[in-house]
This record gives sequence, C-alpha cells and structure tokens, in this order.
Amino acid sequence: MAYETKYPYTNEVLASYDNITDQEIEQALENGHKLYKKWRKDDYLEDRKAQLHKMAEILRRDMDKYAEIMTKDMGKLFEEAKGEVELSAAIADYYAEKADEFLKPIPFETDTGEAYVVRQATGVIMAVEPWNFPYYQIMRVFAPNFVAGNPMVLKHASICPGSAQAFEDLAKEAGMEEGSYKNLFASYDQVDNIIADPRVTGVCLTGSERGGASIAESAGRNLKKSTLELGGNDAFIVMDDADMDELKKLLPDVRLYNAGQVCTSSKRFIVTEKNYDAFMEILVESFTDVKWGDPMDPETELAPLSSAAAKEDVLEQIKLAVDNGATVAIGNEPIDHPGNFVMPTILTDITKDNPIYDQEIFGPVARVHKVKDEAEAIEMANDSSYGLGGSVFGTDKDRAREIGEQVETGMSFINSGWASLPELPFGGVKNSGYGRELSELGFTAFLNEHLIYTP
Ligand code: NDP
Repeated sequence: MAYETKYPYTNEVLASYDNITDQEIEQALENGHKLYKKWRKDDYLEDRKAQLHKMAEILRRDMDKYAEIMTKDMGKLFEEAKGEVELSAAIADYYAEKADEFLKPIPFETDTGEAYVVRQATGVIMAVEPWNFPYYQIMRVFAPNFVAGNPMVLKHASICPGSAQAFEDLAKEAGMEEGSYKNLFASYDQVDNIIADPRVTGVCLTGSERGGASIAESAGRNLKKSTLELGGNDAFIVMDDADMDELKKLLPDVRLYNAGQVCTSSKRFIVTEKNYDAFMEILVESFTDVKWGDPMDPETELAPLSSAAAKEDVLEQIKLAVDNGATVAIGNEPIDHPGNFVMPTILTDITKDNPIYDQEIFGPVARVHKVKDEAEAIEMANDSSYGLGGSVFGTDKDRAREIGEQVETGMSFINSGWASLPELPFGGVKNSGYGRELSELGFTAFLNEHLIYTP
C-alpha cells in the first residue's frame, strides 16, 4: 500500500512515504500504553485540557498551512479546508471545556447502599479514518479520548498522508507527550495485528462498508469494542408546504459541498408531486455553470474528486444508472483536464429495479424522485440499506420533525442540510454503522463506566 500525496487537480505525486515497520508499531503501542498507565495513576487532566486548547490555538493560528496540506492531499476547496480546520479546533476546545462535566462521577440511586459510576480510560484506541475530512475525522475521535486518558494510534487513508503526519506534528507542538497520538503508515495486515494487541482496547473506523466489515470482524474476533461510521444515501424530503425560496438557499451546497464526497450529504431528493417541477427548476439552475477548477483558487466552486479511482467509480455508477433506465437531466459532460473532475449531474427516473437505487454515489451527483405524498416519501426514504442522516424541508416544523422521526436514520436535519457540531452526536443505523461520535454520547464510546458500590 503506497502512502502518497497526489494532488487531485494535476495528479502529480507531491510526496510519498515509507510504510511503518513492525518494530516502530511495537514502540508506538508501548509508548501509548505507558502513557495510559501514567494518566490512570496520577490523572494529569489539567495538562491534557491545556494541551487540547493549545492544539486549537495552533490550528487557528496556522489555518492556511493546515488547510493547504489537506487540499494538496485530497483536493478539497481551500476555503472549505479552512472551515474544517476551524471545526477541528472547535472540537478540541469543546472537549477541553467539557471534560470536568463529562468525567464527573454519576450517582445511582439504590435502597441498599451507595453507588456511583466513574468514567475511566481503558487503554490505546486504534482509529482507521478516511480522506474526505482529513483532520475532522481524526479530531472527533482523538479529542474525547485524549482528554479522558486514552492515547490513540491512527491508520489514515493512504491518499492523505500529509494530513496524517501534520496532525502528529501538531500534537507535538501542543506539548502532548510522546504516545498521545501516533500516526502509523500501516498495511491492512498490520492494522489487524494492532487490533489483536492486548494494549489496544477499542477500534473505530469511518469509511466504506467493506472496510467497516473487515475492521468489525477483527474487533469481534479479539473481543474489542468497536464503532463504525459508514456510508449513507441520505434522503432530502421536500414536503408539500416547502418554501422554494428558502430551499433555494441550501442548493447546491447540500449536495456539492466537498465535491459531493460527504457521507451525510443529501443524495436522494424525494419531492412530492406538488413541488416536483418547481424543485427541478431550482436544482437544475443551482447545478448549472458551477465553476470548476484549481481548489486553491478562491473563485473555484467545484473541486476535483479525491483520486482518479474515485472519479472512475462515480462515472461507472452514472453509466450503470443510465444503462438501467435513468435519465441525465443535466451534467456528466466529459472534461478535458488532468484533474479528477466530474461535472454536477442530476439523475431522474431511477426505478426500484435500477441497481443504483440502493447505492451511495460519492461525488457530485444528485438523484430526484417524484412521490405522491409525504407518506410515500417516508416509505421511499426508508427503502434503503443505509441509515446515516437525512433532511426534511417544510414550513410546518412540527410536522417536519414528525416526518424526521419516522425516517430510519441516526440523524435528521429539519429545514437544513447535514451538520456536524462538537456538541451533537454523529452516527447512523443499518449499514451506515453503529455507535456515536461527538457530544457526551460519543465521549463514552471507549470508556469504562465503572460502578463503585458500597452496601
Ligand atoms: P475505505 O473503507 O476504503 O477507507 C477508509 C479507511 O479505512 C482508509 O484509511 C482505508 O485505508 C482503511 N481501510 C479500508 N479497509 C481496511 C482494512 N481491511 N483494514 C484496515 N484498514 C482499512 O473508504 P473510502 O476511502 O472508500 O471512503 C469513502 C467511504 O467512507 C464512503 O462510503 C463514505 O460514505 C464513507 N464515509 C463515512 C463517513 C461517516 O462519518 N459515516 C464519513 C466519511 C466517509 P486505505 O486508504 O489505505 O485503503
């Protein structure tokens, strides 16, 4: 497996990195384990809180530097990369601020004595993360675990090694002790061995179903706790009473942000027949003349996809859809450029027997379905093997929330596209994975909720 930064705008290799050796992995696990033991004995919580704040400060101070590393790795717009640096800093600050509250012993009522639960670290956590949000994905696992006293080792996607290494340098600069965070340019076999190591007490993956199944299998075999954040095919339900002028403000971002490579972006627009024509008009308008180009250029609106393989996958899926009866309403024009560009594309007429019906397309492709009414919209939203997020758009917010509750997903966004905030839980159901990251729910994922009972 080659760890390489290949700029998606030019496909030029800018840097390549050697894989880590087994000896280096052993050292990383030993450093992490020793640190866990030290923190378990003498706490050091105040130090860790200060170091997280320092991390946030450095990220904000050197925002352009960190953003450019990401853009060069996986091609996202520089402006969006800066937004991600800020979000990562906000997550670091959030856990530093909330640590005391989240780590406070929780009293339990019993007539037979005194009881409380104390939340404690368990050991080194193995994180396997994808390229689409190279820092945010790391930070949402690292910050809660670090502050609680779990060190972390990371296997990042092989196409974003610059970001993986930058995060390690950031941890050092923030004064974090050796072992707090270690980036490993590891192979799949090495990851498997790490999961089996007794010093590792939990494993999490964000990525594809195939990657998730493989990691979960290894975690299960070794009786390690795991969390999975996998793909999504999120529905965006447009209700009968939707205000089209308001809806227009969300387009095309709900689909085209990060060139459509967001697990929670709106992938299936499900529109009641009353609004279908009006909706198509504004969607087509928003997908027309989107300025594609160099992601470092502030004028660019559409970035290349993260790799040539990602582009090929998306083009093949569009072909599959069309071969099985779908219509291209707009887009899919070939582009004569070495970058991995796919033009914003809208697909309609996708019937249930079309193989694309239940597939996630990880690129700038929206599909639109016309339904009779809201009941049919809910039924179609739930007719998916995924259950990550989804949106409901309508003027009656109570009704929209009711519809949201009927959709079988982990997150429903009312009158909004997807969102991820440090204080809100993130995660899905069905083939979109299990467990939650972020918020107090995510904080406890790899902690021991330890009962102390005195009869
Ligand atoms: P992959 O599952 O291929 O890769 C994700 C990470 O897992 C990478 O670091 C990859 O390494 C690693 N990996 C994959 N298989 C194994 C294995 N058997 N053993 C060890 N490591 C493994 O996902 P994609 O790159 O295709 O990412 C896109 C997918 O991720 C989409 O389906 C998307 O929806 C989902 N995703 C989900 C999110 C969520 O929060 N729910 C957020 C973002 C993306 P390597 O790069 O070396 O192959």
